Amino acid sequence: MKHPLGGPVADLDSITVPTHLLPADGRFGSGPSRVRPAQMQALAEVGTSVMGTSHRKAPVKDLVRRVREGLTELFALPEGYEIVLGNGGSTAFWDSATFALVREKAQHLVLGEFSSKFAAETTAAPHLSDPSIVRAEPGSAARASVEEGVDVYAWPQNETSTGVMLPVERPNGAGDDQLVLVDATSAAGGVAVDLTQADAYYFAPQKSFASDGGLWIAALSPAAIARAEEIESSARWVPEFLSLTAAIDNSRKNQTLNTPAIATLVLLAEQIEWILAQGGLAWADARTRATSGLLQEWAARREEVSPFVTDPSARSQVVTTLDLVDDVYGAGIADLLRKHGIVDIEPYRKLGRNQLRIATFPSVPESDVQALIEVLDHVLDALRNDG
Ligand SMILES: *Cc1c(COP(=O)(O)O)cnc(C)c1O
Repeated sequence: MKHPLGGPVADLDSITVPTHLLPADGRFGSGPSRVRPAQMQALAEVGTSVMGTSHRKAPVKDLVRRVREGLTELFALPEGYEIVLGNGGSTAFWDSATFALVREKAQHLVLGEFSSKFAAETTAAPHLSDPSIVRAEPGSAARASVEEGVDVYAWPQNETSTGVMLPVERPNGAGDDQLVLVDATSAAGGVAVDLTQADAYYFAPQKSFASDGGLWIAALSPAAIARAEEIESSARWVPEFLSLTAAIDNSRKNQTLNTPAIATLVLLAEQIEWILAQGGLAWADARTRATSGLLQEWAARREEVSPFVTDPSARSQVVTTLDLVDDVYGAGIADLLRKHGIVDIEPYRKLGRNQLRIATFPSVPESDVQALIEVLDHVLDALRNDG
């Protein structure tokens, strides 16, 4: 029997992983990602007094305030920047930006599934010119370069589908009227950043922030806020749900335009405060470097495994993508591990590679990564002896 990439399907069914090798927590997904037990505890304790109560009253508004103040501290928010939030996840923010931040034309770096989705929106929008698209092969990086006529530059800090990480730095020579929009959905909270280099640094809470999905959060610069006000007072129709000025107004009152998922806010506030208590963003950045580093060192040790991202400087600290040789069947290994409670290490579904994708968000301790590596060693050694 052969697997889709040509190698034999090894006899994975005969392999059992000894229980003592297993990590304490087997969730290594790239989003939704593991929620720490202490967050669930807080939801049970703190949550009961706010769940099922009005989002226009103090208890829920206080949660939103905790989130906004916590993020202000975590990101050392520059003067004049504001933390704004709304419903619909990062996908909704792409549409908000398409209506309320892109004036005429965007430049997108497209290096995988997530970055291509935002580019598809500004391409389809009838009120915008076709964007300028700078493409990179999946697994490699691209860089924005200054272009006349462009009023928004857009790229992901971490392209979650491929495990490529890009710097957050204004393109050299970019004008004051050219905004930088960074999709930080999987990077925010796990990777260091200097927010003066972006005008909209936006994310959703189900990755490094270990919460549930459904919200978007953005750190907006004064220039981004001014752009939204300019566009939304022009003749362009902007749907109310996607209005950034409405989101800004509501956020200033510690509210959202429409009803938020309160549990998501509780889990998010707990995670922000936990990261701050551990030492803030510098701590989280050091931890994800260390844990992803363990996986890269392991890949260097095993001849069956190689990093999908060949340029070491483009490798993500939070999502590690590792290719396997043809006769080691990654999907079979992911299935086997799933039976042992280690979940969501399959590659991004549309990438179609013989690969494992392992997230090391701040909630993932070194001990669990170490254990995962021992489990993978056990499986690969068993396969080798089998062949
Ligand atoms: C997960 C992810 C998204 C999508 O987030 P939603 O909250 O599901 O809309 C967008 N961009 C990146 C980089 C992501 O990792």
